This record gives sequence, structure tokens and C-alpha cells, in this order.
Amino acid sequence: MASPAPLPPAEADAGARLVLAEHLLACESAVACARAVVEWLSRQTGAPVACLGPGDGGTVPGCLASEGLTGAQQAALGRAWEEPDSALAPFHTRPGARWLAADAFEGNVLPGGFLAVPLGRPGAPAVALLAVGLSGPGVPRDVAWAASCAGPLLARLTASDARTPRRLEPDRLLRRVINAVSDPVLLTDPEGGLLFANGRAEALLVAGPDASPGRARAVELNQRLFRETLAQGGATGTGVHRLEVPLVDPVEGMDLLFELVTTPVLAPDGPAVVVSVLRNVTDLGRAAQALGESDRRLRATEREARSERHRLDRVLDSVADPIILSDPSGGMVMMNDPAERLFAWPREAGEAFMRRVRANEGLFGSFLSHLLGPDNAGVSRWKSQLTLDDPTSGAPVPMEAMANKVVGDQGELTGIVTVFHDRTEVLERARLLERVKEVSSELEARVLSATAELAEQNEKLRRQAIQLEQASAAKSQFLANMSHEFRTPLNAILGYTNMLLQGVSGEMTPPQRRNLTRIDSNGRHLLEVINEILDITRIEAGRMPLHLTDFGLSELLQEVMAEMDPIIARSKLTVETHLEEGLPGVWTDRQKVKQIVLNLLSNALKFTHEGSVHVSAEYQNGTGILSISVKDTGIGIDVSNQEKIFEDFQQVDSSPTRAYGGTGLGLSICRRLATMLGGRVSLQSSPGQGSTFTLHFPRRARRT
Ligand code: ADP
Repeated sequence: MASPAPLPPAEADAGARLVLAEHLLACESAVACARAVVEWLSRQTGAPVACLGPGDGGTVPGCLASEGLTGAQQAALGRAWEEPDSALAPFHTRPGARWLAADAFEGNVLPGGFLAVPLGRPGAPAVALLAVGLSGPGVPRDVAWAASCAGPLLARLTASDARTPRRLEPDRLLRRVINAVSDPVLLTDPEGGLLFANGRAEALLVAGPDASPGRARAVELNQRLFRETLAQGGATGTGVHRLEVPLVDPVEGMDLLFELVTTPVLAPDGPAVVVSVLRNVTDLGRAAQALGESDRRLRATEREARSERHRLDRVLDSVADPIILSDPSGGMVMMNDPAERLFAWPREAGEAFMRRVRANEGLFGSFLSHLLGPDNAGVSRWKSQLTLDDPTSGAPVPMEAMANKVVGDQGELTGIVTVFHDRTEVLERARLLERVKEVSSELEARVLSATAELAEQNEKLRRQAIQLEQASAAKSQFLANMSHEFRTPLNAILGYTNMLLQGVSGEMTPPQRRNLTRIDSNGRHLLEVINEILDITRIEAGRMPLHLTDFGLSELLQEVMAEMDPIIARSKLTVETHLEEGLPGVWTDRQKVKQIVLNLLSNALKFTHEGSVHVSAEYQNGTGILSISVKDTGIGIDVSNQEKIFEDFQQVDSSPTRAYGGTGLGLSICRRLATMLGGRVSLQSSPGQGSTFTLHFPRRARRT
């Protein structure tokens, strides 16, 4: 609040007064005239000035114009000018200016007091009053001059205003306009004191003395909320402020939200009055909230769609087959890497590359045309085979394409997904399969002919086998017959030879005896051969059955030794037998075991010139196998002959000049007999080191 100037200000020069005079002459209303005087005086004196006048022509009722005064000061002065009992009331009729002290008014309107100068025609009642914030009691000449100029003019203009009732004064018009505004509009002092409120604002913020307690409480709450919001920034500064203020509907008690736009109308020493316009944004707030919610949902959906797209991209790229997504008009929207290799060209692609891609696009376009257009509305998928070009090499790529329509919620076509499948491998496989079939049918034909040949051969072999069997049986029969036929006369020859040698027919000369001895020896050899052939034929003809008995090996070996004793005695060899302790009894064909051991021992004695022959027997408990070994220190047998000597008529030395006699049938008979016992004959030998022949056979034979 500016204090009244302590000293009378300098007087205005003639030029300044002329400006005011010209200004006043141009005024067409009392308010304009009052404003011109107030502004001029404020400028000249530097003091706050107000012009109090009739009605509501100014911003504040009773105050036509003011400078340097707050809204509250204007309102207080305006009221004082209009009230009949105030300190200003006498100035309506009494001419002449007078200084009024501050305490002449309630509320300490101007702390230093002010000059009150009535305005009007000389001799007539004042139509207005100038209040100039200067200390009294003298009236500065500028003030007096301005009052003398403006007074008559104001009187005339006031009368003229009154004569033209249809033409409202601008401030009154303004009030009506403000009242007609659908939003609440208020004028307040900076502290929130209400100066003016239109109808809408009154409904929210004013309660008459006859208001209900509920409404009074709601209005009181609204006033408090309004003042607090105003204090946040609406009442200070110079700019326009926008704030939100929550109020209560005093009638229905509903929560309301208003946007408060405050505009301070500044006086030189600070805001004089604050214009507040409230706009009901309750619905807007709700709508904004709903909008925010839908925006949030939209963003979430967008995010979801983005991540879905990203996932789709990754899925598409992970598929090895080319995939293309087309829009409803057939344009390619998306494709994975394998599809790009066929349908996209890099920047550096050459002419041939681009030509092949275009050809592929053409083929794809005509393939898709089966799904596009109204004629194909009922077709949801299309499958066909295309031969595309590899854009890099130009090689044909046989493909199977399968396209599916993607439809929206309303059944409308939203896109087409086409998946290609490379058929190169399938075709190659089919070609190979065809080839395999050809080869296998060729093979089948060959196998058939070979089988027929084989069957023929088999038949031949079978016949030959039968013939051989028959021949063998005939041979065996022949040999058996012949052996018998040979043995009978041979035995007679040997008997008679023996009788002659024993001198039954008289003494013989030494040459006769020598010849007869040779006949006897050759005859015996022949008998031996015949006996062995007979054995073989009997075995082969199945005419040598097993005679199983219980016997001990010890007795058997003693018998063998006894039989061989004359030959052992003739040789210069040491012959020993050794039997393992506790040999078990044997259940097998005793005669056959004896014949084998006799044969092995006879060979050992025959093929050993010096050293020894050792006969031993042992038993393997775990396997139940008995072994009788005949070990000599003789000439031994080369590995190459060790198998051969077990065959019929085979000898190591089979030359006519051989040193050893024999038939070559002994070991083959031994092997056959051992087989009949369920056993075998083994050999360990090396030339010059001697040989060991072993008969292995089960302790208990099984009848076959
Ligand atoms: P043979 O003794 O009547 O010739 P074998 O069938 O008994 O007929 O024997 C076949 C051949 O095996 C003999 O001719 C001989 O060459 C060889 N042979 C057999 N036993 C012995 C042995 N203990 N030491 C060396 N050679 C042997």
C-alpha cells in the first residue's frame, strides 16, 4: 500500500494539462472521463487516486476508476460514497475539497488519509468524488484544476448516460455478461475476500442468511478450499494461473473438480483484484481417467503386440522352410530368412539375380491368385507345386507351397500365410527308390535263376550222395565179404605154415625154414591189414555196437602191458606206467578203450628207437573226463602231418621204400572208436622230440 506523498508535488506544465483537456473532450462516458482524470492525477501526483461515482459503472461498485488502490480499498471507498451515513455522504451536496483522516472510515481505507474533492457543475450537487491519497489540508493546484475541468463534464456525461437507458455502461454490461457465463466467475481481493461473484459462483460459494445448515457447511468448505487454492499461486504474480480445485456441490453433496484460472489485475503496488474463472472438469477428470486407463491398456496391448511380433519373427526365422505373410491384396508383408533367399535381392545383386527373383515373385503371385478376389472367397487354403529359381545359381528349386487364409473376428480376410517345402530331397529320394526297385527286381531275377540253378545242383548232389552212399555201402559190404573170404584161407595158410615150422611134416632144411618164416610173417601182416579194414567197415556200417561195462583203468592197463610184453621185451626201451591216485571206476566200452591204447602203445614202440615210453592216466573231476596218454621219445611228427595221419591209409612216410611198416589205418580206427565213446584223440609232437598221443573220454559213456 503506497503512503500519501509527504510533500506537494510539482505542478503540471501547460502541455500536460492540455493533454488531459483534449482527452476529456474526447470522452463519451462518465467512466471514461473518470479514468482519464484518475490516470492523469496519479501520474502528476504520484499518489493513489480513485474517482467514486454513481452505480456500477466501474470494476468495483461505486468506484468509477482508480490507480494505486487495492480492490478492497476501492470497494470500501465505493461503498462509502454510496452509503447515506458515511463520512463521504456530505460531499454529495457540499461543495469544496476537504482532507479526511484515515480514522474517518472503518477498515483504515487509506492509512495516511486522503483529499476528498467533489466533482460536478458549480452550484449543483456533486455527481462524483475524487479521492487523492495526499496529506491535507491544502489542495494542490493540479488537483483543483483537474476537478474544475472534469466536474462539469462528468455531470453532463452522467446525465447523458442516464438519458440513454438502453445503452448500458460498459461495466454494467460486463456484469451482465459475466452473469450470463455458464462457468462460475469471481472477483476477489488477493486475500480471497469476495468482491463479486456471478450466479454460478454464488451457487457454490455464497450462502444467504436463510441457507440450510448443510448448504452453509458446504459453502464454507468450498470457500476454504477456494481460498487455499488461490493462496497457492493465483493471487500473486502477474501471469495467468491454472490450478485444480476440488469443491462440493452444496445442493447434492457430490464431489466436483474445477479448473481454476486466475488472472491478477495488477495495481502499481501489487495485485488490485483477482479474476477467477472456474471450469467444471469433474466429467473431464473422469474422462481423463478413463482415457488414461484406455491409453495404458492401449500401450500394454501395443507392447504385447510388439513382443508377439518379435516372437513371431523369431519363430519364423527358426523355421528352415520359407514362410511368407501376405496382406489381403497379395502384397508381401513379412518373410523369414529362407524366403528372403528366394524373394529378396541384396543391393549388390546383379541383373540375372533380380530377373530370377522377379520370376519367383510372378510364380508366387499367380499361386496366390487362387485365394484372392471375390470369386475365391470360399477357398480357405491352396496347395500347389512350383518350381522356383535359386536366385544365386539359377538352379531349379522344386517346391510345394501351402497357403492358408488368416481371417479376422468378422470373418474378413486379414492376411495369407504361405509355407514352402523344398521337394528336392523328396524327389531325389523317390528317384533313388525307383532305382533301388529296379536294381532289386534285377537282383530278384538273378536270385531266382541262381536258386533254380542251385536247386538243380542240389538235386544232382542229392542223387550223387545217394549213389555215393549206395557205393559206400556196397564197398563196405564188399570189403566185409572180401575180408572174411581172405581171412579164412589166410588163417589156414598161417596154421599150416606154423605146423610145418614146428616139424609136423619132418625136419626142414635151413633155407626151407627161412622161406616158411617169411611166408608166416607176411601172412600175419596181411591178416592185420584185413582185420583193420574189417574194423573200419564194421564201424561205418554201424555194425560195431557199444558194450558198456564197469571196469578199472589199472587192470585194463596191466592187461595191455601184458599183451605187449613180448614186443616191449624185444625193444631196448624203458616202458613205464603211472596212474593218478584215486582214479574213479569207468562205465564205458572196455574193449574199445583197450584197442585204442594198444594201438597208441604199439605205434610208440614202433617209432621210438631209444629212450622211453610212458603211459599215464588221470581224471578231471570238474569235467568228468578221463585221459590216457602215451608219451614217447621217438621220431616225432611235423605239424603239417599231425592232422593227416588220422585219416584212412595216411602215413608220414608213404613211400615204397619206407622204413616203417603199417597200414595207415590204426589212428583212423582209434579216432572213430574214440568218437563212439564220446571222446577224442589229441596229439602233441615235434620232429625229433617224441610224441604224446592222448585219449580223452567221459568216465560214464552215453549210449547213442
Ligand atoms: P601205421 O602205424 O600202421 O602206419 P597208423 O594209422 O597207426 O598207421 O599211423 C599212421 C602214421 O602215423 C604212421 O605211419 C606214422 O608215420 C605216424 N605215427 C603214428 N604214431 C607215431 C609215433 N608214436 N611216432 C611217430 N610217428 C607216428
